[in-house]
Amino acid sequence: MANDLRFQVVGEAFKKKPLDVKAPAERPQEYFGKHVFSREKMYNYLPKDVYDKMIDVIDNGARLDRKVADGVAAGMMDWAKKNGVTHYTHWFQPLTEGTAEKHDSFIEHDGKGGMIEEFSGKLLVQQEPDASSFPSGGIRSTFEARGYSAWDPTSPVFIIDDTLIIPTVFISYSGESLDYKAPLLRALKAVNVAATEVCHYFDPTVKKVTSNLGWEQEYFLVDEGLYAARPDLLLTGRTLMGHDSAKNQQMDDHYFGSIPERVAAFMRDLEIQALMLGVPVKTRHNEVAPNQFEVAPIFEDTNLAVDHNMLLMSLMKRVARKHGFRALLHEKPFAGINGSGKHNNWSLSTDTGVLLHAPGKTAEQNLRFATFIVETLMGVYKHNGLLKASIMSATNAHRLGANEAPPAIISSFLGKQLSELLDHIEKADKEDLFSMDGKQGMKLDIPEIPELLIDNTDRNRTSPFAFTGNRFEFRAVGSEANCASAMITLNSAVAEALVSFKKRVDERISKYSEKTEYSEGSGHSPKYHAIIDVLREDIKTCKPIRFDGNGYSEEWKAEAARRGLDVETSCPVIFERYLDESSIQMFESLGVMTKKELKARNEVKWETYTKKIQIEARVLGDLSMNHIIPVATNYQGQLLRNVERMSGIFSKEKASHLNARNLKLIEEIAQRTAIIETKVEELVAARKVANKIENEHAKAVAYHDTIAPMFDEIRYQIDKLELIVDDALWPLPKYRELLFIR
Ligand code: ADP
Ligand code: MG
Repeated sequence: MANDLRFQVVGEAFKKKPLDVKAPAERPQEYFGKHVFSREKMYNYLPKDVYDKMIDVIDNGARLDRKVADGVAAGMMDWAKKNGVTHYTHWFQPLTEGTAEKHDSFIEHDGKGGMIEEFSGKLLVQQEPDASSFPSGGIRSTFEARGYSAWDPTSPVFIIDDTLIIPTVFISYSGESLDYKAPLLRALKAVNVAATEVCHYFDPTVKKVTSNLGWEQEYFLVDEGLYAARPDLLLTGRTLMGHDSAKNQQMDDHYFGSIPERVAAFMRDLEIQALMLGVPVKTRHNEVAPNQFEVAPIFEDTNLAVDHNMLLMSLMKRVARKHGFRALLHEKPFAGINGSGKHNNWSLSTDTGVLLHAPGKTAEQNLRFATFIVETLMGVYKHNGLLKASIMSATNAHRLGANEAPPAIISSFLGKQLSELLDHIEKADKEDLFSMDGKQGMKLDIPEIPELLIDNTDRNRTSPFAFTGNRFEFRAVGSEANCASAMITLNSAVAEALVSFKKRVDERISKYSEKTEYSEGSGHSPKYHAIIDVLREDIKTCKPIRFDGNGYSEEWKAEAARRGLDVETSCPVIFERYLDESSIQMFESLGVMTKKELKARNEVKWETYTKKIQIEARVLGDLSMNHIIPVATNYQGQLLRNVERMSGIFSKEKASHLNARNLKLIEEIAQRTAIIETKVEELVAARKVANKIENEHAKAVAYHDTIAPMFDEIRYQIDKLELIVDDALWPLPKYRELLFIR
């Protein structure tokens, strides 16, 4: 009997046609931000004085008073109602990785038996969702379940369907952060303060330094019908079994290939909706693996970029379903082919331009460039283990260290030109560095680096933190992750490095000021001597983080360990880096997170890790016992009957010859199903043991060390069975179907 479900869904998937997505009549620049309460709309909907105060709040972090909030709320509601909005929600980013929202409508009793619509500053600014079920790592015990969400005025509100969405932070009643946004905003403030002060060495007029983020989101699309027939995809986001398709990515024919029609229609739809929500999506292309794609916007201020990524991920899931797809954001939905990441392109910029931009025309610009490069490397070097922890998760662990971009060791690729520049600053004779130039006095002898050359040097795809012309590209971030996690750590690490740099430079300036040969005006000012000396020191210190070779090689693992870089690969152990003295010291001194918060957040991380592996273990056990073994046994029964009948009609000798292949298969099925059964029993037993462990850390370690490794052994047997069991009986859509049907 044929397996009807599988063939039915595969057949339907083949027949699906692309949806006809009508582009709006206007050009993108006209509908961009249509559903966002942008500055322009604020200007139109708010009284002049309220508007001015609001801009001061957004741009300069001014305090928001109640009257202004009331004014803003009134204008917002006015705009929202004109767009058919009836509800509003505080939208926040709990530690579960997704976003959370609870909708309320504007209606209130009017006291006369009727209803009116109302939206005050109070409702805009703060809410107390009963959020007792969100993970808090014990900060908020359930009897004291109050956490509150508070408006983040720097990220504009927007409309989805009938709801006004208000970006907020989520904080416990006692003030600890329970989300990603609150510590992110604090880290961005820290890096702004630290970087602005360092900028003042070179240009005293700089007012503010912004951290920028341009993410590149990779994802897979799978036909919705096939997805529904794969309980593992449905429940865990990845396939726990499935033999390689004979053809997958070995021909390299998918990367940058022409986009299939059904997918193109989905992308168009997604882009139109994203643009209307103010997400400046720009790039789309096929990725390396079959059915893998990428979308990337133009970079924005990091806080906004994070919100936009969260928004885009949920939009993507929604739009995909409309097109009969499921968007898979899991880092490793399919074994044997590439997984998905989310490159985080990061830079710092002032009101006058990007700080990591290839050297400018003046000595100051060159030195400033070198300073920000070196101090970024210092931060990344000092906290390389923590940075790895910031991107680690049960799902991303499948990519890291698994011979796939990027390796589980954080290192930085600078390219030839930039490496030479740093080497030069480090080693050149100091007198030569301060070569004199007739007209301008001192001229720093730093080689000019043509911008284009720098851009072109980077095609080392194995580097997790590569310099790419005017930014660093942090490639280890997982496709499913909230970018904020990586951005909190990176910006904090750089802020800390800049603070330390400034402190040491200032100390030297006062010391050198006493030296007559370094006096101002002599061309050897104490300031430049101090900066160069500290930079030279730091270039030496952070050298171990620089690596331009092949990050996947075995030699690198050994070499990195010799250099003292973090080479740990166990996810729950990597999380420990958050509680290292150096991490606590960094986060606390910058006011980003307290030890208590860090501890609580780690409890959540360990618990989440355990739960993910636990769910996978259960799904794998279930599928083994009620999908795979019955089907294999059924097929084995067919073979047995065949053997019996053959023996009835042929002579003993002939039958034994003719039955040889089937007998071999019967035996193989018996052996493999027996192993699966035993391993599943062992898995259940191991889970029972691990579940008794009370400590979240120890439990996660047990799940990592004893339970996760058993998956591979079970899967191996199942994938072998897939190859021999009659295709017509196999219940689960196969890789070749999941990956090649549009
Ligand atoms: P590639 O695939 O070559 O790395 P993409 O064009 O796909 O490049 O994506 C690069 C991302 O980096 C985009 O989001 C882009 O806006 C962003 N980006 C470019 N310059 C900067 C910068 N100075 N700082 C931060 N992000 C940047
Ligand atoms: Mg990139």
